[in-house]
Amino acid sequence: MKGLIIVCHECGAKTELRLIRIQFERKGVRAAMTGIPAMVCPRCGTEYVPAEIAGDVIDTVSRTIDQTEALLKRTEAHRRTLAPPQHALRPERLELVLVS
Ligand SMILES: [Zn+2]
Repeated sequence: MKGLIIVCHECGAKTELRLIRIQFERKGVRAAMTGIPAMVCPRCGTEYVPAEIAGDVIDTVSRTIDQTEALLKRTEAHRRTLAPPQHALRPERLELVLVS
């Protein structure tokens, strides 16, 4: 990958390529995506996700959150009939995993 950050901008330590987890929250939907390659500083923990990967991840998660929100709206009435109000089904977490 081009343009990788190999020296931490925060503390100057050499970064390492690792797979990280990024969390998002939008429109009341929480999403976490794991398996994202990033350069990580072993000393201070700063994570550098390459720009092209970050763009793809944000696009994918944004589209998925939009679709999840639409799904929740479409199924809201049905979910209410399935569960009593005090146990309303409120799926609010979405986990995406990149598998190599
Ligand atoms: Zn650092």
